Amino acid sequence: MYEDLKERLKNAGRVLVHEGLGDYVAGHISMRLPDRPDQFLMKPAGMGLDEMTIENIITVNLEGQKTAGPSARHNEVWIHSEVLRLRPDVNAVLHAHPEAAVAFSSLDKPLLPVSNDGSIFYAGVPVFAETTDLITTKERGEAVARTMGDKQALILRNHGIVTCSSSIEETVWLGLKLERACRVQLAAEAAGGPKLLVKTEELAAKAAKANRPDLHSNVFAYLVRRANATCPYCAPQGGIRIDS
Ligand SMILES: [Zn+2]
Repeated sequence: MYEDLKERLKNAGRVLVHEGLGDYVAGHISMRLPDRPDQFLMKPAGMGLDEMTIENIITVNLEGQKTAGPSARHNEVWIHSEVLRLRPDVNAVLHAHPEAAVAFSSLDKPLLPVSNDGSIFYAGVPVFAETTDLITTKERGEAVARTMGDKQALILRNHGIVTCSSSIEETVWLGLKLERACRVQLAAEAAGGPKLLVKTEELAAKAAKANRPDLHSNVFAYLVRRANATCPYCAPQGGIRIDS
């Protein structure tokens, strides 16, 4: 069941690893089931984001319990279950440990509109600082979801990021853009600190131009094509089977 959804989730994992958001077997992504909004598909524990298959993806409910699938559940499942519980508008959640975002979080500085990517987040990116530890309890998951509020991106201090959206394509896109925004600001900070930012009066229009559903799906489709074209491991045919 849900083969089409699982295929998109699988592709999301491959794109994230190819774009540098993997952390070996850590990091996870989920998608709510449209006809069962209290359940979601999720990457299993113990394997890379790029090793998801139709067969090994698990189903989890909003209580954080696995309801289907052969593989183990991540102990940070609560990020997904609690964001999906608190946000009926959200259908997909990503948690990753990308290097630039984690390094940036240690500066204790706000994310600034240094670049096009930074402009997208001009309304602010909340920082979860209650702990730098993993989010392994329902209570901590609730706290992360509350800190996220109505935003689509959050930084977990000295840990990683969370992004969410109504679509998995936008959720992935936000993760990639947040990492780029952090990387560009880190470069500016290392060169003495940004002195010029995107003009305040241009921010809203610029962010709207850069953040569109057609762009989310086009970028996602392009990155899937690129992963398939450049990586035999990810190729749909002739690639290495990864579910054995
Ligand atoms: Zn984590």
